[in-house]
Amino acid sequence: MPMNFQPFDPSHFLIMVVDDTTPNLKVMGSILEGVGYQTTFAMSGQQALERLATVTPDLILLDWMMPDINGIEVCEMLQANPKHQQIPVIFLTARQDRESCVQAFETGAVDYITKPFHRLELLARVRTHLRLKDISDRLQASLHAVEHLARTDALTGILNRRSLFEFAEHQFKRAQRYGHPFAVIIFDIDHFKAVNDDYGHLAGDRVLKTVTTMVQSQIRTMDCFGRYGGEEFVLVLPDSDHRAGSILSDRLRKDLANLPIHPIERPITASFGVAAYEPQDDHIDTLFNRADQALYHAKQSGRNCSFLCRLGTRSPQFDNCREITLHIPEPAEPNG
Ligand code: GH3
Ligand code: MG
Ligand code: MG
Repeated sequence: MPMNFQPFDPSHFLIMVVDDTTPNLKVMGSILEGVGYQTTFAMSGQQALERLATVTPDLILLDWMMPDINGIEVCEMLQANPKHQQIPVIFLTARQDRESCVQAFETGAVDYITKPFHRLELLARVRTHLRLKDISDRLQASLHAVEHLARTDALTGILNRRSLFEFAEHQFKRAQRYGHPFAVIIFDIDHFKAVNDDYGHLAGDRVLKTVTTMVQSQIRTMDCFGRYGGEEFVLVLPDSDHRAGSILSDRLRKDLANLPIHPIERPITASFGVAAYEPQDDHIDTLFNRADQALYHAKQSGRNCSFLCRLGTRSPQFDNCREITLHIPEPAEPNG
């Protein structure tokens, strides 16, 4: 998103003028509207705050001395509200003393103009602050866009490997600290190279996107779904144990095998590996390794199946998911 400077068009900006004296509002209205700005008016601090529930001005020109809530109090309230703290406030006041000016800036105002003011100076200051606000808004939007790009996979729009690991690490800490269970599913599309070879890379891409959409429609909002790389995907399932992970894994496996994907004429299947947090885990990698091992077993067992990998020997066995157990190494004998 290039940050090119656009020609300044006053009609794109809405300015709120707050003043308890009607003639002042009239003068301000004619000056601002005279050069093309949109305007909205409030006759008290209270009215200004109420109006902000329905309109979002690009700038506020604020009188200081008003009967109910004074300008400084209005400015403080705007600063305390995340929805309003980005709106630049310019004081327009009869208070000439330096202390008031300093207080206005300290409260969050971007500028301070004393009455009587000079029309062109007022317009110049308004324009400068609107330009700065515009640049800051566009920088903020670019930053959000860049953050989004850094977190997501370009083809499928789901999380990329890095943000998946961040999420998984967060779940791991929760599990260690509070004992909340969570499960991980890794799945890999079977014989995907043959799909590319037979139907072309674009059809392969479409398979990846269709699989993504299907899985997204089957998971809870709190579940985290991302692309691990190539045709390999990961689900991190908060508050889920071995059983919940196994059930979801095999449901996704069956749904995928029955999913028609144009123009592929044969079923697309995947192999699934499941693991869930166990108190012996001291790092998220050990859990991912188990899910990887389970996936490896699923591939070795003919593909289109789910395997769960647990530590040690356990019961019960789950019918929807075959199970492998990892031997827990005995602690080494102390020397001597
Ligand atoms: P297996 O059942 O053992 O998993 O076999 P496979 O063919 O799925 O696995 P392999 O690792 O041999 O091939 C994966 C293929 O996935 C090769 C690679 O070109 C393809 N691939 C990886 N990323 C993309 C992508 O973004 N788009 C497309 N169309 N293909 C991709
Ligand atoms: Mg594969
Ligand atoms: Mg693969």
